[in-house]
Amino acid sequence: MPNFELRVEDVAHPGAQLFFEHVRPADALRDAVISTCSWLYTLRDVPTNVQNVLLVLRPMPGVAYTTGSRTHKEIHFSLDHIQRSASRARQEILGVLTHEMVHCFQYNARGTCPGGLIEGMADWVRLNVGLAPPHWQRGRGDKWDAGYDATAFFLAWIEGQCGKGTIYQLNAALNDRTYNESIFRDLTGSTVHELWRLYKLDSQASTVR
Ligand SMILES: [Zn+2]
Repeated sequence: MPNFELRVEDVAHPGAQLFFEHVRPADALRDAVISTCSWLYTLRDVPTNVQNVLLVLRPMPGVAYTTGSRTHKEIHFSLDHIQRSASRARQEILGVLTHEMVHCFQYNARGTCPGGLIEGMADWVRLNVGLAPPHWQRGRGDKWDAGYDATAFFLAWIEGQCGKGTIYQLNAALNDRTYNESIFRDLTGSTVHELWRLYKLDSQASTVR
């Protein structure tokens, strides 16, 4: 477990008050690490490079982002977004922390992995741990790497079709080598485009039903 630090840049902000009302920072951060590592790694291959995670709560546009070095990560989380999510603050805070914690630990094919897959993996973990927000919808998206929940539901479908551990293997295939779309064929027997076509057909069928 990394060391956790917390910086609140506006303690009087309604978002900060909601944050402390609804979560215990040490528990929330620890749980996000456990969620991330239990879906993307095993005890044998969990990365040990992340020594410190600094959570910065501050007023800013957008939702959150992760930055930092190999050893020291920073998660910047918008107090305005927390305020906007007041009616479901706890779920949203834990969901966003889980998504950002995935970015702290996931492999990215030495920086060559498509952004949509990176974001899809992060929301795939969020989906798996039951922290999907109510507006997420299976079957959405025009392309497989549209990112976020669009790609997350697609990855969940692949895991359902090809077996538990498929997305774990997909993350492992992004370790320390350049990205190549053929990793999908190597893991599943089908190209990512064939998989996406089948997924869309399947989603349409279940909507009609
Ligand atoms: Zn993200």
